[in-house]
Amino acid sequence: MSIPQTTASERRQTERALVPPDVIDQLREIVGADHVFSTREETLVYESDGYTLERMPPSAVVLPATTEEVSKVLKLLYERGIPFIPRGAGTSLSGSTIAVQGGIVVGLSRMKKILEVDLANRVAVVEAGVVNLWVTHAVENEGYHYAPDPSSQGACTIGGNVATNSGGPHTLKYGVTLNHILGVEMVLADGTIVNLGGKVEDALGYDLTGFVVGSEGTLGLVTKATVRLTRSPQTYRTLLAVFKSVDDATRTVSEIIRQGIIPAAVEMMDNLIIQAVEAAFRFGFPTDAAAVLIVELDGLEAGIDTLTKRVRNICNDQGAIEIRQAADEAQRKALWAARKRAFGAVGRLSPSYVTQDGVVPRTKLPEILRIVTEVGQKYRLRVANVFHAGDGNIHPLLLFDQDNPDEVERVIKASDEILTACIDLGGSVTGEHGIGIEKVEHMAKMFSAEDLKVMTTLREAFDPDNRCNPGKLFPSSKGCIEIKRPRPAAPA
Ligand SMILES: Cc1cc2nc3c(=O)[nH]c(=O)nc-3n(C[C@H](O)[C@H](O)[C@H](O)COP(=O)(O)OP(=O)(O)OC[C@H]3O[C@@H](n4cnc5c(N)ncnc54)[C@H](O)[C@@H]3O)c2cc1C
Repeated sequence: MSIPQTTASERRQTERALVPPDVIDQLREIVGADHVFSTREETLVYESDGYTLERMPPSAVVLPATTEEVSKVLKLLYERGIPFIPRGAGTSLSGSTIAVQGGIVVGLSRMKKILEVDLANRVAVVEAGVVNLWVTHAVENEGYHYAPDPSSQGACTIGGNVATNSGGPHTLKYGVTLNHILGVEMVLADGTIVNLGGKVEDALGYDLTGFVVGSEGTLGLVTKATVRLTRSPQTYRTLLAVFKSVDDATRTVSEIIRQGIIPAAVEMMDNLIIQAVEAAFRFGFPTDAAAVLIVELDGLEAGIDTLTKRVRNICNDQGAIEIRQAADEAQRKALWAARKRAFGAVGRLSPSYVTQDGVVPRTKLPEILRIVTEVGQKYRLRVANVFHAGDGNIHPLLLFDQDNPDEVERVIKASDEILTACIDLGGSVTGEHGIGIEKVEHMAKMFSAEDLKVMTTLREAFDPDNRCNPGKLFPSSKGCIEIKRPRPAAPA
C-alpha cells in the first residue's frame, strides 16, 4: 500500500465539495429561509462535535422539519452531486459529524415529536431528533422507560443513538441501542424514503434495521425510529464500593459476573475523576480513594437484598475498604447524576480533553488500565478514567491544552497506543462512540482488506456515490493509510 505524499488534512482541503449559491436558494425554498445557515459565522457552530481535535465547518447547514422536507433536500443535493452529513445533537465523541469533505449538514433538531406510544406492544414511534431522555419521560408514569441510557442522554438524539449504536451504564443488563430499535424510516441519498422493520418482532428477510444501527450516517438519514419500551424494575439497590487500588476495583467487576450475577450497571471512576466530580457536584465521594465502583442491582423486591449481600461480600473479598448504599431514590438519582455529568466536570482539571473509547474482554480490565497509566506516564499526560466497567468498555480521558501543539501531538500518539493495546488484548477500538474520523486509521488494523471491501460493498448498496457522511467509518476510498494526522483548525 503506497504512502501518500500529502497529509490527510491537505487532501481533505482539496477534496472539499463546493456548494453553488443557487443550491442555497433552493434549500431555503424547501425548508424556509430561517432554517438554512451558510455564512461563516453560522456554520462555525457546526465545525466540530464533542470531538474537538479536528474542526471543519460545513458549506451550509439545513434544518428540515418533516420527512418530506428531508427527502426534497437530499434529492436536490443528490442531483447536484453534493454530500451531506446527518447531525443530531452533535455530542459525537469521534468527530462523526465533522464536514471533512465539505458538504451540507442536515440537522434533525426540528424533528422532535414523539408520534406514538403503544404500551400494549411496548413500543414508541419517535422522530429522529427526539432527545433520548424524553422517551423515558413520556412513559415513566406508566412504569416504562427507554433502556439505552448514554451519559449524554439529556442531550443526544434517538437518530444519533441509532447511528452510533449507543451504549450506557445499563447496557450491561439491558443491551445496547441495537437491542431496542425495531424499525426505522430512512431517507436514502437520492431522496427515496424507505421503511425498514417496524413494530413486529423478527421481521422477515435480512435484518436491515440492524444494519442501519451503528452505520454512523453512512447509509442514509434516519427520520423516525420505532423503539422498544422496557418495563421499569420494581426496585433498585445501588452501591458505591471504595477501593485503594484500581486493580482491586477492576478485578471485582469480573468476579461479580463470574459468580453469575448480572447487575443492571457497573461503573468505575478513578481518583482523578472522583476529584473533578466531587469538586463539581459535592456528592460526598471519597477523594482519597484510588477508585470507586457504582454497582446497581434491579428487579423484584423479593430476593434483591440477598443478591446485594452477595455483591457486598464479593467487593469485600476483593479489597473494598468501604461500601455505601443509596438510602433512597433521591440519593440514587444524585449518584447517577454525578456519574453521568463526569465528563463535564473534567473542565475543572484541564482546558481540553479527549475521551478515548475502547473495549476489552472484561477480565483484561486490570491489564488495560495498567497500560493506560504507563502510556500516560510515557507521554507526560494526565489521564482520568470513568467507564462502563461491566462491559469492559474503557474511557480514558486524556487531559491537555489545545493551544500546546506538542501536547496535542502527544495526546494523538498516546490515544493510538491505548487503542492498539485494546486490539492486542482481544478487544476493539470502540465500545460505543463509533469510528467517526478519529479512528478510521484503526479500521485497517482491525480488519483485512477483504473485510473492508465487503463492508464498503454493503454500504454502496445503499449509497453508491458516497454522498452520505463521506470520510467516516472507513479508511479513504482512495486506499491510503493515514500515517500522520495533524489537526489544525479549518481555514475560512
Ligand atoms: C458527555 C458525553 C457523554 C457521553 N456518553 C456516552 C455514553 O455513555 N454512551 C455512548 O454510547 N455515547 C456517549 N456519548 C457519545 C454521544 O453522545 C453518542 O454517540 C450519541 O449517540 C450521539 O448522538 P447525537 O444526537 O449527539 O448525534 P451526533 O453527534 O449529532 O451524530 C453522531 C453520528 O450519528 C449520525 N447521525 C445523527 N443523527 C442521524 C440521523 N438522524 N440519521 C442518520 N445518522 C445520524 C451522524 O452523522 C454521526 O455520524 C457521550 C457524549 C458526551 C458528550
